[in-house]
Amino acid sequence: MALLCGNVLRNSRFAVRLQVSKQMTRQVRENRPVCSYVNFQTISTHLRLIATRQSCGKAWTVCPHVIHGGHHIHTSVPRRALPVPLLWMVLKPLQKLAAILLGRSIRKWWRVLPQNRRQLMREWVRKHRWHFAAGGGAALVIIALLLLTHLDESPLTGRVRLLVFSREKYRELAVLTSEMHLEEFAESLLPDSHPLHQMVQQSVQLLVQRNKDIPQVSEVPWSVHVVESPQINAFVLPNGEVFMFTGMLEAVADTDQLMIVLGHEMAHAILEHSAEQASLSHIVDLLSLILVTAIWALCPGDFLALLGGWAKDKLTELMFNHPYSRKLESEADRVGLQLAAKACADVRAGPVFWQQMELADQLTGTPTSPEWLSTHPSHRNRSSQLDRLIPQALELRENCACPALSSPDPRAVFSETVRVMMKKTKEQPFVLSAYRAL
Ligand SMILES: [Zn+2]
Repeated sequence: MALLCGNVLRNSRFAVRLQVSKQMTRQVRENRPVCSYVNFQTISTHLRLIATRQSCGKAWTVCPHVIHGGHHIHTSVPRRALPVPLLWMVLKPLQKLAAILLGRSIRKWWRVLPQNRRQLMREWVRKHRWHFAAGGGAALVIIALLLLTHLDESPLTGRVRLLVFSREKYRELAVLTSEMHLEEFAESLLPDSHPLHQMVQQSVQLLVQRNKDIPQVSEVPWSVHVVESPQINAFVLPNGEVFMFTGMLEAVADTDQLMIVLGHEMAHAILEHSAEQASLSHIVDLLSLILVTAIWALCPGDFLALLGGWAKDKLTELMFNHPYSRKLESEADRVGLQLAAKACADVRAGPVFWQQMELADQLTGTPTSPEWLSTHPSHRNRSSQLDRLIPQALELRENCACPALSSPDPRAVFSETVRVMMKKTKEQPFVLSAYRAL
């Protein structure tokens, strides 16, 4: 398989990523870096090119004017605070425990109630049923009003969403979270002078400078931390702290793919997805307290109540949390592609990245769960969505006076490469079996 891929892809820039060697298989299975190829030169070229660029586009997609040499990325000053979202996180299990105890107490109280008292209670409830209905209706109106007063417009996309926690409070929480992560990764952070750190920093700097017309980008003190870890992971906190794992740097084939990944993560921060998700989760949790109480009051025994509670949690996850999370991921993919387009990345690398991830899963036999069970869209759907957005992103790129993209199209190169690889694999099926057995 290694020779097969190597011969086919020798002249491709995806050569290293797709040169699925025996060593790579071992690395994937042991959760170590997949491959090691990053084109550091591309970043320098980007930086040189944009120095002469003019403005472009319209609305939020307007590119800023010529970039000056200023260093926009710096470490934020740590602040101490007691954020409200953190307080809610601590209180959440206590609220659930209180609901369980209340429901259980109601059940026990009802059980020991004499038959005549039970009958009286039933009659009393029947007599006052309209009062209960009116009370429930009033509570629903109050909840609806409370929710309406917390509606907010998502930056850039204009999507109306619920935001219970203020941006400021969530940024305070992000400061605490970043301090926690810095402490956690203290031993494995690469120094600022390390080439990988510089590469990520320059990529972030490029994205920030080319998107500084967006207030959520220009107002944040972006800071980069590269963690030496085989995890294929990266995240950006709402306070602009970028955490990139070397495993992810190994997984991207070039700096264009790196820009797509960074664009996606930065989009999560710009769009305040963590605050939005926490708000939804907060409301769903509060409303589900009523259900928890009812389950523990109505179920005949503790075991059944536990089972009912577990079923309720799973249903909430599958019906609300996961679909919502997938929606936010898709939005970050879309906005991240636009950020990368404005930074003159080759946006065609976006769908290829997700195709690579899908292929790597197939070749390594990594089990994948159905999309409806996942918090993220499937690799295939992410690739398809980005592919549909490429014409729009290319237009944006053109409006931003980015240099013309080189041919051939990386998507075509990748498809052809996979086709040839699969053909060879069919001719020599033992190669794939031997490869998977490693
Ligand atoms: Zn994401």
